[in-house]
Amino acid sequence: MGKLLRVNLSTGEAVDEPLDMEKAKLYLGGSAMGGRILLEEVPAEVGAYDEGNRLMFLAGPFSGTAVPGSGTYTVVTKGPLTNQAATAQANGWFGARIKAAGYDGIIVQGISPKWVYLVINEGVVEIRDAGDVMGMDTQETQAHLTEALGLPKASVACIGPAGEKMVRFANISSDYGHFASTNGIGAVMGSKRLKAIVAHGTAKVPVYDEVRFKEAAKAWQKGCQETIMGSTVSAVGTGGFLSPAAVTGWLPVKNYTTTVFDEHPQYNGDALRASTGSTRTPCHACPLHHSTRLEVLTEPYKGLVTDEPEYEGLAGFGANIGVTNVNETLKLCDVNDRMGMDLKECTFVISLVMELYEAGVLTKDDTDGLELTWGNTEAVLALLPKIAHRDGFGDLLAEGVYRTALKIGPEALKRAIYIREGIAPHVHDVRGMWGYLMGQVVSNFGSIEGFSPADMLPEADIGLETPPERFTDPLGLADAQAKWARKYAFVDAAGTCFFTTVALPGMVEALNALTGLDLTDADILEGGWRHITTLKLFNIRHGFKREQDTASPRILEANPDGPNVGISVAKDLASMVERYYMNMGWDAEGRPTQATIESLGIAV
Ligand code: SF4
Repeated sequence: MGKLLRVNLSTGEAVDEPLDMEKAKLYLGGSAMGGRILLEEVPAEVGAYDEGNRLMFLAGPFSGTAVPGSGTYTVVTKGPLTNQAATAQANGWFGARIKAAGYDGIIVQGISPKWVYLVINEGVVEIRDAGDVMGMDTQETQAHLTEALGLPKASVACIGPAGEKMVRFANISSDYGHFASTNGIGAVMGSKRLKAIVAHGTAKVPVYDEVRFKEAAKAWQKGCQETIMGSTVSAVGTGGFLSPAAVTGWLPVKNYTTTVFDEHPQYNGDALRASTGSTRTPCHACPLHHSTRLEVLTEPYKGLVTDEPEYEGLAGFGANIGVTNVNETLKLCDVNDRMGMDLKECTFVISLVMELYEAGVLTKDDTDGLELTWGNTEAVLALLPKIAHRDGFGDLLAEGVYRTALKIGPEALKRAIYIREGIAPHVHDVRGMWGYLMGQVVSNFGSIEGFSPADMLPEADIGLETPPERFTDPLGLADAQAKWARKYAFVDAAGTCFFTTVALPGMVEALNALTGLDLTDADILEGGWRHITTLKLFNIRHGFKREQDTASPRILEANPDGPNVGISVAKDLASMVERYYMNMGWDAEGRPTQATIESLGIAV
């Protein structure tokens, strides 16, 4: 659309800025463009909650087009869990609506003197008093604002009570069932006293070559339905990965104290959809139609209508906290989402205190009287709002896994599930998937670089016809991860959904037809490398050290049981991390070399 919107909440000014086209060619949009702006505008002394921090909602070049899953946007900021970069992607419609409202992205800075929300409607920007929506949950806020503004086709990105209270892992909700979650981006939104952004408009994304782009988008629409990822999420949602996770030993169960979860069949995507009423709620231009709204048909919680949790919600509020009834898990996911909390951090902080309660390290005197035994759904239902409102024992947990463990002491630190000194991994037992663990350990924290199951899926277009074996080829995993990260960084930059990703040539053809550029697959992979290296430079400026790229003691332990019993990544993780650095042109301390910086054309 050729312009960004910059809003200064301290002064109430909103100005249009022309998109720097030279920068756009190098960084495209989304997470990559956000990383570049962070590097330029947020110096080391600016903390996550300071006026000088930027909170960006960035579309990509594909957002709002006919390419599948192009309602996606990425939030980029300095996050409060790692005090380094945070980039988090959400699908749905909001990315398309940023474009329809006339912009390629929104940069928010400053701190408002009172709570406000932002309306961007057909290029007209208003900052409004948020008094009416304060205290509302994420779903209520979206429904209220679209109705009050008379804009039923608007998209709303908002925080819930957890963001208002700056829970360190608060997230941002948009289009009801979609969440940009990682690294406390909702807490940053709360620190700016910004409750919501409403985006609406009818502007069309200009296309360089309409005929060629239509063909490329059509081929992509077809191709994404034929990949392993696309066909699975289309048929049964990401819940279709739950039983495979359980039988291969990478489902997290009771805070990693076991890997056995016999109840997995009722949780798997096919059984979940068969046991509930379901209505598809597809995202912008997506043929996979995987987003779904469920109605619970049996007790308990009969009549609950909620968005179908992804695999991570089913695992996190099921096996990981010892809950074995899928309806109870649906209820817990619904409450968590309404409060607006990142479920990765939330489930692992709750599973930590449950394990400590079971071990007698914590008692009812510590937990405000809650009996935090495994599987006690009623206790967790009482605990979730306490965390969101920072009430009593909940205030301790609102700091996230690592900081909660530090406060409780050594018994907690040895059991806590975290990586990189302060952030929970995705909701898997990563002791059973070494490539995936290493991908998150070295992540900046970018959403796709941290979500690269290089040890599972073949990707012939980047030379990974056969994924490396997950336990016997650790350096092969590190090599694969470096390839994966370069490709999938493009997805974060381009404004498309991870699940709709196809082979590079088809995506590059669509980008060239859309923009008139003449990029090659190699250019795109170099762009991904530039994107990741730029974020790394930001993190180094903000205190990154090599020692941070590791995992907590519990993750380094051997698998206690199940198909991977006795296997531990402890002796291999450091060499995997250093091999990845080498593949990225960084030194042994994880610092990009001068030659790498120059070859990528990163001006610092
Ligand atoms: S695959 Fe799912 S999350 Fe992605 S765009 Fe399609 S419906 Fe949305």
